[in-house]
Amino acid sequence: MKDPSLRLVLISTPIGALGSGRGGGVELTLRSLAQGLVMRQHQLTLIAPRGSQRPVGCDAVELVEVDGVDQPSWQHASEAASVEIPRNAVLPRLLDAALQRADNADALLNFGYDWLPLWVTPHLQQPLFHLISMGAVTTVMGEAIEALGRWDQRRLAFHTARQAADFELPNPPCVVGNGFNLEAYRFQAATGGPLGWAGRIAPEKGLEDAALVAVALGERLLVWGLLEDETYAAAVEAAVPPGTIEWRGFLPTEHLQRDLGACRALINTPKWNEAYGNVVVEAMACGVPVIAYDRGGPGELIVPGENGLLVPPDDVSALADAVRRCGDIDRSDCRRWAERNASQQVFSRRVEAWISAGLAADGNITALK
Ligand code: UDP
Repeated sequence: MKDPSLRLVLISTPIGALGSGRGGGVELTLRSLAQGLVMRQHQLTLIAPRGSQRPVGCDAVELVEVDGVDQPSWQHASEAASVEIPRNAVLPRLLDAALQRADNADALLNFGYDWLPLWVTPHLQQPLFHLISMGAVTTVMGEAIEALGRWDQRRLAFHTARQAADFELPNPPCVVGNGFNLEAYRFQAATGGPLGWAGRIAPEKGLEDAALVAVALGERLLVWGLLEDETYAAAVEAAVPPGTIEWRGFLPTEHLQRDLGACRALINTPKWNEAYGNVVVEAMACGVPVIAYDRGGPGELIVPGENGLLVPPDDVSALADAVRRCGDIDRSDCRRWAERNASQQVFSRRVEAWISAGLAADGNITALK
């Protein structure tokens, strides 16, 4: 039987308004989870930076927009970087707004990858949970997540086991995967399409390797995503013959899935321990096999021969060979994998189970070390 309805306060990422694209995969994760939780009759309040859009189908969700300066993303910080909170930062204000509503809630659920919400958790009466969206990108963030894990690991969930393996935790991690509104992704059966790549245009995404695969195969590469690092994009463009890359910009999901679904394969080239890899599953949902480096989340999501192929990290010629073999994969198997493993229904059930178990626990909590 389903647990009773939960009253949850969701705290969005502090690095940009929901809908801006600056939050990367977290934006889609949050939207999809909010929709899934609403379908499961939970009551939600969403605290998000000013300008955020309420997820479609979530009219009953209270959206609280908060003013303030965006946090810098930890993604591109150096290993030894310090915690930085700008003047008039939105991050503490998001927490403030969430805590003001906490007395009428069962739990708070934080989507922001930042130090302050982690640090403050043991000092709060109200139960604050964290869905961690990246690996240990800096020492200070790794340590903050590990310290919270030592205090009470039930407050932490991760997208994949590979992501969680970045952290030294006392217990096996709670892995909730991710989920998508699969109705928004149309299955396309045709096999003869172009090669595609999607993601933020930034060094950790390894676009240059996918471009080299296109060169090796004498084809063009269609690229979708937020242009985060213009210098990097120009360097990638200059490294391959003109016309190899067809820049398609950052599209809303409806258009992205239409164009992505027409591809023969999605090439995915993570250079970092990608926590999950939304675009990997979005492609599969359209029937597109994913050819990827065996690294991070994509290495865990791809079942070779069923929904894609994996090759050793950074081996461009193995990647090109695998792309040549992508026609062996049945596109309907890709879609079926997404339906079984990454629907928003499956995802929201896992998150509900994680939070319910954390709330039910009677508090065998050790002192913060
Ligand atoms: N995306 C999009 N439009 C585009 C390209 C990408 O909306 O044209 C979204 C995509 O749906 C995904 C996100 O950008 O949710 C990228 O997330 P991913 O987990 O792949 O990587 P991240 O940016 O979080 O590292």
